[in-house]
Amino acid sequence: MERLENQIVQLLQNKDIRPTQQRIEIMKYLMEHRVHPTADMIYTALKKNMPTFSKTTVYNTLKLLQEKGALAALATVEDQVRYDSNLVPHGHFKCTQCGTLYDLEIPEGFPKQTTIDGHRVFEYQILAKGLCRHCHMQELS
Ligand SMILES: [Zn+2]
Ligand SMILES: [Zn+2]
Repeated sequence: MERLENQIVQLLQNKDIRPTQQRIEIMKYLMEHRVHPTADMIYTALKKNMPTFSKTTVYNTLKLLQEKGALAALATVEDQVRYDSNLVPHGHFKCTQCGTLYDLEIPEGFPKQTTIDGHRVFEYQILAKGLCRHCHMQELS
């Protein structure tokens, strides 16, 4: 087995998830494609090599992986759920022109856990929007 697959099996086992082939394939896809794909994007991509893959399987698997904490699900403003295998806290930047969702490092000193208006905050979902560096460059030229 490849190294990445071994890592995934370990991760799934640590999270109490039985490492089936389909679960491994979905995790692998997310780790190799850091573009925060939607469930549909994952399904379309995996279907090419695995014709037995069903849309329901992909949706159910993503839900399970998210519930068990093996994946993060991000809600973007357009109500599309995007999946992320990067579990280190980070923000996101969405380009309004090309639609790409980039990882954004959270600035140092940003409060991690705090209380605001009496609510205890455990995590933030930071979503910045604008023109990405590629689209920005194109606009300049
Ligand atoms: Zn862009
Ligand atoms: Zn991310």
